[in-house]
Amino acid sequence: MEEDQIKECNRCGELKYLDDFYSYEKVNAKGQIYMYYYPYCIECSKTKATKWKKDNPERFKEIHKGVKDRRREYESIHNQLRNERGDIRKWRMKNPDKIRSYGKKKRIHDITEFQWLKCKEYFGNCCAYCGKDANENWIRILGALKLFDLSKEHVDYNGLNDLSNCIPSCRRCNSRKNVKEFLDWYSHKNKIYSIDRYNKILQWRNADCKKFM
Ligand SMILES: [Zn+2]
Ligand SMILES: [Zn+2]
Repeated sequence: MEEDQIKECNRCGELKYLDDFYSYEKVNAKGQIYMYYYPYCIECSKTKATKWKKDNPERFKEIHKGVKDRRREYESIHNQLRNERGDIRKWRMKNPDKIRSYGKKKRIHDITEFQWLKCKEYFGNCCAYCGKDANENWIRILGALKLFDLSKEHVDYNGLNDLSNCIPSCRRCNSRKNVKEFLDWYSHKNKIYSIDRYNKILQWRNADCKKFM
């Protein structure tokens, strides 16, 4: 369960693995220890920090005089992040229609609802990569569990938008594969790899999808 958790970055808007966020243990009011994850993914946190240093060279120099002062820089950056996060949240609430464009540029499949149903059916209503059932495609986003439909996944990221390049994928695999090449990513080195599923994907792409095209 733990490793299935995916979180949305508040800056780039992408759904990412929890590993992709900085985290540390915190203690709640009841004295229980829990894991706190930063609202921005590591990539965005680094970008923010670098930008801040660039925009504030004097300040950066000053606070890098001693190790003791480093903590202040750290807190300053994170106060800034916290303020901006508040602004972004407000902006997101006022502009729900614009949020989508902030995520990665999604490539859209040009397939009918019927084709999509047949495609999911072919893969037993499961993720074609890891075999996870559509009814288990629960994702924790900002603390709340949501059940997602399987995603229309581009096997070849830069390939066609038709059925031959479309397979159902759970959010986790969709987010993990992202723009990677299918053969590089879906190999025996990948924990979720299965030779049966691999063959089924090829069978679908090379032959069986054509029954519905
Ligand atoms: Zn991000
Ligand atoms: Zn999957």
